Parts: sequence; C-alpha cells; structure tokens
Amino acid sequence: MNTSSPALVASRLEISEEAAQLSADCELIDLHIDTFIPHRLWGYDPFSRHKSALLGRHLFGHLDHPRCEDGGMTGALWSITTNPFRLKGSRWRVFQRNLVKLQGLIRDSNGRAGLVTNRREYDAVRATGAHAAMICIQGGNAIEAAPEGVASIADDAVIRITLVHLTNSSLGTTNSPHHLVRGSKGLTSMGKTFVEQCNDRRVFVDLAHIHPRGFWDAVEAHNSDQPLIVTHTGVNGVRPHWRNIDDAQIKAVADTGGVVGVIFAGMFLSRKGGPTDGAMVVEHLEHIIDVGGEEVAAIGSDFDGAITPPHELRGGETYPVLVHHMLARGWSHDRIRRVFATNFLDSFGRLRP
Ligand SMILES: [Zn+2]
Repeated sequence: MNTSSPALVASRLEISEEAAQLSADCELIDLHIDTFIPHRLWGYDPFSRHKSALLGRHLFGHLDHPRCEDGGMTGALWSITTNPFRLKGSRWRVFQRNLVKLQGLIRDSNGRAGLVTNRREYDAVRATGAHAAMICIQGGNAIEAAPEGVASIADDAVIRITLVHLTNSSLGTTNSPHHLVRGSKGLTSMGKTFVEQCNDRRVFVDLAHIHPRGFWDAVEAHNSDQPLIVTHTGVNGVRPHWRNIDDAQIKAVADTGGVVGVIFAGMFLSRKGGPTDGAMVVEHLEHIIDVGGEEVAAIGSDFDGAITPPHELRGGETYPVLVHHMLARGWSHDRIRRVFATNFLDSFGRLRP
C-alpha cells in the first residue's frame, strides 16, 4: 500500500497533483536494480527506510521498500551481479548461495514482497498488494561452471541474464572502453550456446553492456519468436556514448517484441545543451519510441548499481518526478502506463505466461 497520499507526494516532490495521482494509479516496474549489492557488501536492509542523501549524488542507497512504495514502484528486476575476478567454479557456487540469500530476503519480507518467475505470478503477487521481485543475473559467466548451463538454475528462478557485464568473459566482449581495443569483440561459440540455453529455459537474453558486434551475434543466435531485452541503457540517437545503443539495435529488439529500459545514469544520458534533470531520461525514452514504437520503451534505472542519477531522481521515492516530466512533454496517460509497466508485462507474458 502506498502510505503517502498523492497530494503529499506532489508537495514533497514539487510536482503536479495529476502526476502524483497517475503515479499512485500506475504499475511501475524497474528493469534493473542492484540493491542486492549493498545488502551483500555491508548488510544494507532493503526493507527499512533510509534517508536519501541530501545532495543525491551518491552511488548506493537509492532504494528501499518504503521509499519505493512512496514512489509507486510495484515490481523490479533484482540483479545478482557477478564478480568476474573469482574462478569459474567459485562463481557458480557463490551465485547459488546468493540466489538462496536473495530469495530468503524476499520470502522473509512479511508479505511486503513476493517472488515472481512468470506473468501469472506477477498478477498473483500484485493482487496481495506486495512488491513483485523478479530475479536476474548480470554477467552470464556466473554460471559458466554450472553442470547443465542455464538449465541448472532450479525452478526457473531467474527470468533474465545479462550476457556480459563490465569485463570480457568466456561468452563475449563487453562494450566498456578499456576492453574495446583487444579481443574478438563478438560472441564466442560458448556465448552462442548460452543464448540457445536461455531460449530453451525461456530466460530473457539481456543485451545491455555487450559490444555491438556481440549484440548482433546474439540477435542471430537468438530464437526470434522470443523477445530480446536491453534492460538498462541510454541511446546514441540522443547522446552518442560507448555505453548506449544505436537505432538499428533498438529496432532489432523491437522486431522481437522486446523492450529497452532507460538507465538513470546522468553520465550516459546528458547531452550538450540538454536538460540536466529527470527530463534527460524522458528524452531517451522518446527517442526509443520514435525509432522502435510505443511498445518498446521502459525504465531500467540501475539504482544502487554505482550510478549517479540526476538530483531529482535521487531514489525510489522520486519516480513520480518522471511522470511530471512526461506529462509536461505532452505524453498521454496511456503512454506513461506503457513505459512504466505494460510494455514489459506484455513482453514477459509472451516469454513466460
Ligand atoms: Zn549494468
């Protein structure tokens, strides 16, 4: 239950009451949150309220359940991010331990959150008023040593895997600049097999962070009847940047019925002379819509993933600020609902009804 009335939210965030009201009425799914990182590293409790830093320019501590409820978030893809510096056997063991730990965290939330592995479960969890937690892997090399590959993950607990993260791996090459100069840049044969394994288990193949050549290799290896996804990114059409994707990549995802989530990291989004507030996120969303259509754009903040968001998007309580900017740019309520949840849910429903 949202404990803040729209009028209170409007005055606290200095936004219109229409924006606050629509936020309260919308489903809102964030396609990439890394709140499990501070929980693992220093025991950060995602279910108790933390203060947002006054300046908002911090790397962690963006999200907790009470502030996300204030901000109208109803579900999120919780990432288990891989430490590439472990040996591969140890990565698989640590992943299994982390999966159990994250599942336990959600199960012990006294009904405030529920685990979701398919579209039907999303509705069931939301019908209780709880937050829908969907578990993901960032860095497919976490399960390189798993005996049956992707199929080794019990109970289809993971709904999405980001193939590569910030380093090159046995699966392929990252788009991070320090790795651009060397390496094959494409997907390895192991990477192609991995994509097929994801298709077999109906796990979203996430192409955030991958080198463009690997992106296209993955598109080719992927079963085009299943939706591809890019969960947290900016777009080159607004701000050319090594971390962002171009128009052809947006269209390739759109062609599969997938979605592209816009990250809240100012350093990848801001353009010369452009907005410095939450409107910069909306510019990237609009470009995705212009190129790929209304059904493709979504939100993937990367909160708690060591990003620096624009000040007014400093934490989970601030999602309604985005609604304010969307309305100010003439967006319809229908489009806002799509970008916040419907587009992802449609795609999810096709992958895992
Ligand atoms: Zn990431």
